[in-house]
Amino acid sequence: MEQADAFWNATAPDGQIQQRLDGALACDVAIVGAGFTGLRAALMLAEAGTKVAVFEARNVANGASGRSGGQVNPMLPVARPDDLRRAVGPKFFERLAQVALNSADDLFDLVQRYQIKCEARQKGWLRANHCDAARKVAEGNAKLWNKLGAEFESVGKEDVTRLTGAVGYGSGIVSPRGGAVQPLALTRGLDRAAREAGAEIFSHSPVTGLHPRDGGWVLKVNGHEVTAQKVIIATNGYTDNLVKGLKRSVLPLTSIQIATDPLDNDRIGPLCPAGHTISDTRRLIMYCRREPGGQFIYGGMGYRTPTGGIGGFQWLYKDAPRIFPSLKGVKWTYKWGGFVALTPDRVPHLHEPAPGLIAGLGYNGRGVAMSLQMGRVMAQRALGTALDDLPFPQAPITPYRFRDPQVLGAGLAMSLLRLADEREVRRG
Ligand SMILES: Cc1cc2nc3c(=O)[nH]c(=O)nc-3n(C[C@H](O)[C@H](O)[C@H](O)COP(=O)(O)OP(=O)(O)OC[C@H]3O[C@@H](n4cnc5c(N)ncnc54)[C@H](O)[C@@H]3O)c2cc1C
Repeated sequence: MEQADAFWNATAPDGQIQQRLDGALACDVAIVGAGFTGLRAALMLAEAGTKVAVFEARNVANGASGRSGGQVNPMLPVARPDDLRRAVGPKFFERLAQVALNSADDLFDLVQRYQIKCEARQKGWLRANHCDAARKVAEGNAKLWNKLGAEFESVGKEDVTRLTGAVGYGSGIVSPRGGAVQPLALTRGLDRAAREAGAEIFSHSPVTGLHPRDGGWVLKVNGHEVTAQKVIIATNGYTDNLVKGLKRSVLPLTSIQIATDPLDNDRIGPLCPAGHTISDTRRLIMYCRREPGGQFIYGGMGYRTPTGGIGGFQWLYKDAPRIFPSLKGVKWTYKWGGFVALTPDRVPHLHEPAPGLIAGLGYNGRGVAMSLQMGRVMAQRALGTALDDLPFPQAPITPYRFRDPQVLGAGLAMSLLRLADEREVRRG
């Protein structure tokens, strides 16, 4: 599914002129992947005076970054602080928690600093509870995160209905520091800022080989040799076999979205009137938002079809008007999808499998804010910050257990999870 199918393509400012690598190149740091992670790292490294080059297999922003829901959620998808402590250990726990909780503020500052036109708005994120059991868990966990500074607020049924226009949710948690961006515009804005700072960015330039030589690295790109002292891998859900074991360390899941053209006020008026972004607590979550131009975007989980396409849209067409009655009968003009990367502990992973080779991935569907943090941290590491001083622990690359059956069986698993969700919704 190409970028042109995405709503974002219709509303983003034009990107930079894309050029492919067509000769040998020497740089200090080579970055693989031009999404949020790679471009933030490139921007920071270029500003530090490093000769940095980014290599993107397709066009800049053609991975998840330019297709995402653009929800800026300042929270890792681990349920409780103790789950995070268990995943990263006591040394990194407090640091990583703070990085995650401040990640939305950092994103909005970045947008401001580089004057990126991406419809950035920090109007809050509302997570609606689909049943009473989910409410109890969410409220208990919110209290625990608030002790670390999360500022989550519990809201009741009336507020959820008023702030979303959705039916069927009895309560929710609002994170006032959350918000939204036009994700393709943000990615293109970072691309511009990184180039202006001196980074070289090549599209249609897949890195097909990588090996160490003379204390540095040699990359093979479009048949040419690129030499670099250090390499950053920023490929997340699109990770291939370039670095041994990395592809199999994450579970690539499909996320999909549909969007309308501008709707009349009877339909759009009741939906997210205060500008919140919305998601819910179902196993197969929905996430959605209203656009400044009056369009509505609705997303959820999809799957890969046996022929390599993306499926699951029929469910979104059915689910959206059930939850938002004013959407009954609307025409969904756009549909698109992309890949997110899951880690078993639901925490992003930082790896350094060999000296000078740094990889960061696994945002578990919450990468808009967190990938920018990982990009920043990998740039710091490339500039010489000690591993012990980073907010992410350096982890060995470990295969994701039962990865292939989960990838192949995603469609079936979704049907089962949907039944479980529906049973809970019915029980209330
Ligand atoms: C449909 C969808 C909706 C989402 N919604 C949200 C949301 O609302 N909020 C949120 O927080 N997160 C969301 N996410 C997740 C978020 O978009 C990602 O976590 C984030 O964009 C990852 O950024 P990245 O730069 O690491 O990876 P990507 O943007 O995926 O970029 C990786 C790039 O690496 C390139 N690449 C791979 N291999 C090579 C190679 N060998 N050589 C050169 N290039 C290579 C790929 O072509 C790709 O462009 C969503 C994701 C999807 C797909």
